[in-house]
Amino acid sequence: MRADPEYPHLDDAALAALAPETLAVAAGRPQRGTDSPVNPEIVLSSTFVGLGGVGEGARGYARFSNPTWEPFEDAVGKLEGSPLPALLFSSGMGAVAAALSLVPVGGVVVAPRHSYSGTLGLAQLKAERGELTLLEVDIEDTAATVAALDGADVLWVESPTNPMMEVADLPALVAAAHASGVLVVVDNTFSTPLGQKPLGVGADVVVHSATKYLAGHSDVLLGVTVTADEQLRARLHQHRTLHGAIAGPVEAWLGLRGLRTLALRVERSQATAGELARRLEDHPAVQRVRYPGLPSDPGHERAAAQLAGFGSVISIELDGAEAADAFVGRVALWLPATSLGGVESTIERRRRHLAEPHTVPDGLVRLSVGIENVEDLWDDLRQALDSGR
Ligand SMILES: *Cc1c(COP(=O)(O)O)cnc(C)c1O
Repeated sequence: MRADPEYPHLDDAALAALAPETLAVAAGRPQRGTDSPVNPEIVLSSTFVGLGGVGEGARGYARFSNPTWEPFEDAVGKLEGSPLPALLFSSGMGAVAAALSLVPVGGVVVAPRHSYSGTLGLAQLKAERGELTLLEVDIEDTAATVAALDGADVLWVESPTNPMMEVADLPALVAAAHASGVLVVVDNTFSTPLGQKPLGVGADVVVHSATKYLAGHSDVLLGVTVTADEQLRARLHQHRTLHGAIAGPVEAWLGLRGLRTLALRVERSQATAGELARRLEDHPAVQRVRYPGLPSDPGHERAAAQLAGFGSVISIELDGAEAADAFVGRVALWLPATSLGGVESTIERRRRHLAEPHTVPDGLVRLSVGIENVEDLWDDLRQALDSGR
């Protein structure tokens, strides 16, 4: 579709100046022209016609790039405040693997001991094979994390962590890492770009499991990397092309479709999470609530200073694995399922995953708050908590 001069359009600079909730709706639209579609088309083609050289400019083959990825990549790049489009992957782990490939052979990675279990699993596997050295840190402890950076190559940050909800001092860690020449990667899945923009405080690469909030409907797996550095982006792009973790066009389209409502979903689920966290804190069956929005939470002050919202994941501790399993077995509206960031509320005892770190309490239940009515969600939790007493 060629741009039609009759129809004004917002250029990249004008789009980048928009508020994030507007950007999520306005970015990645096709060019305007008479009878042009308002949504990108799904291009189902494994190869592209061309007589010239493939690489610079020419698309060539659908593992190199795909027109259906680009609107989503453009929108996510802009939401994270990058002048460059994001890179889309077939899953969050596809994006994580690409970002971990930035660690030089024999290099040192510093990562939270409560990183996402898949990320930790991949880093541990690489460590076992002698490809890198993994230093696991308590990311809440800035001094200990900074001390571990000496001689490191990459600092991996999650904040809040999954599922312990620990909040990192991101600006301090980025400054210390850069002073030591350490590359900073932030998994921003939990906060979303509406909560924090790590590139804005100097992080080098952002990754997301777009399966979660960005796509938001528990119907696709997708991942993204975002960087403002052209060389880093070229390396991540090369990794994607050569390892092949590429998204299907239908999934990419659904990702952008989901992204349109990101702000509404996050606003609603976050407000509900705040209310539920307060009520859970007062329930006698709940031993501890971890939610950075609660003034009693150890990460509250930091989160209030760094995040534009406290997110919609809550972790609670019940009296051991048996009580937690029984509680999860009694909910009827909440879905007893792993994953998070969907419109539907999900709940699970994390240690049912054998790969979950053993520093996560046995009785810890993670709640991902969706967009349902707060009283309906509370009624279901309360009956499940009360009937165990
Ligand atoms: C789910 C998740 C991942 C992995 O993403 P997939 O899309 O499941 O591959 C990575 N990081 C975090 C924080 C996650 O929650």
